[in-house]
Amino acid sequence: MRHSEYHRAHRIGWLRASVLGANDGLISTASLIIGVTAAHSTHEAILMTGIAGLVGGAMSMAAGEYVSVSSQADTEAADLLRESIELETDHENELKELANIYVGRGLTPDLASQVAVQLTAHDALGSHATDELGIIEQMNARPTQAALASAATFALGASLPLLITYTVNTTSNLLLYISISTLIFLAVLGGLAAKIGGANLWVGTARVACWGLFAMAITAATGSLLGVVVN
Ligand SMILES: [Zn+2]
Repeated sequence: MRHSEYHRAHRIGWLRASVLGANDGLISTASLIIGVTAAHSTHEAILMTGIAGLVGGAMSMAAGEYVSVSSQADTEAADLLRESIELETDHENELKELANIYVGRGLTPDLASQVAVQLTAHDALGSHATDELGIIEQMNARPTQAALASAATFALGASLPLLITYTVNTTSNLLLYISISTLIFLAVLGGLAAKIGGANLWVGTARVACWGLFAMAITAATGSLLGVVVN
């Protein structure tokens, strides 16, 4: 993969993760607002619930992302340490292992062992990390960055239904406004994610919109049921 192509793939990965993060924020906060609205809560209570949902959701996304990326970083570090020990203690076998990887990729055994010798001389750990363990330097895990990006995109998505709730400033018709505006936002995000990923635009849009609709319908039903039971 050319350097520029690699950077494009890396950028696409980040963009897609951001759009999906915004999606999570949008669906979960819109559903929350719809649930408490269907339970006949006051406008203040609905707004407070939405804000709590945004903050709580963003924090849990950040925590989850930090933990998962950190454990990936831990695993990578442990693999690299084990590999560096093997390179010191079992140099011949490691060389054979690397050559076999290149034979598996289609090189003749002679050429494969030449390549393995030269790459090992140049950067033994780097060659094994990339070709044996699949650890690519640039993909180094950055837990804090990933956590902040995840929380920010969630909060961005969640702020959309909150803005509608704040602007509408009444509970009558709020269910309608939130459902329709959320479906439009979801369709835009779904289309964007499909476009970024090079997937079919309509399929991507429909998939996200249907799931959003389903989530909102379930929470609306739950909210109105609880509203009847509690009030
Ligand atoms: Zn190795």
